[in-house]
Amino acid sequence: MAAVGVLALQGSFNEHIAALARLGVKGMEIRKPEQLQNVTSLIIPGGESTTMAKLAEFHNLFPALREFVQMGKPVWGTCAGLIFLANKAIGQKTGGQELVGGLDCTVHRNYFGSQIQSFEAELTVPELACKEGGPETFRGVFIRAPAILEVGPGVDVLAECPVPSTNVLYSSSAVQIQEENSVPEEKVIVAIKQRNLLGTAFHPELTADTRWHSYFLKMASEAGEATSGSIVPAGGV
Ligand code: GLN
Repeated sequence: MAAVGVLALQGSFNEHIAALARLGVKGMEIRKPEQLQNVTSLIIPGGESTTMAKLAEFHNLFPALREFVQMGKPVWGTCAGLIFLANKAIGQKTGGQELVGGLDCTVHRNYFGSQIQSFEAELTVPELACKEGGPETFRGVFIRAPAILEVGPGVDVLAECPVPSTNVLYSSSAVQIQEENSVPEEKVIVAIKQRNLLGTAFHPELTADTRWHSYFLKMASEAGEATSGSIVPAGGV
């Protein structure tokens, strides 16, 4: 039976499940590799990517998550979930961390700074207006957010965000703040799509606007049609 899974190790998985429920779709919590067999698409929520990676490693989820991605099943990573899906992540405070990969991009884990530099921004998203109707703008909630620094040729850029004028990057010590005046871009990429994979640096699940969830459900539906799956409405069928 086809259904939408939400990786439920840490972070904002409940908020994603609530957003899906507002659209009449039941999200299934995924904590073990075998549970991925019960779903045909997956949302990896925001949270803290190092912690999430440690928990995924503890539950031996990485091989199953990679297989899920490589099978062409739709996966959407929001914030820490985007970091999980990136082929390369930079900006770690200590060493590297395991990634699922699949999205041909490089992300900076904490591009916009620390928790206190979280912000909201009005994003222009033509694809959302085109596929979901409504305004071309979407209010993005950025919490200790990553940004996408580079993308490969097969990646569609769906949204960019203006870079705050004094972009501050924290060094390894929270008290040492390093002003990065050398950031040349005026805008930085914050939403991308590559075949079955969607990545957003912000948190649509923390807003009342469900258009990104609808957009992902359509991706899942289209992929489901190819494999004769269908999305399970809330309450089951
Ligand atoms: N920057 C955070 C990390 O490295 C992600 C923040 C978020 O998911 N809100 O995990």
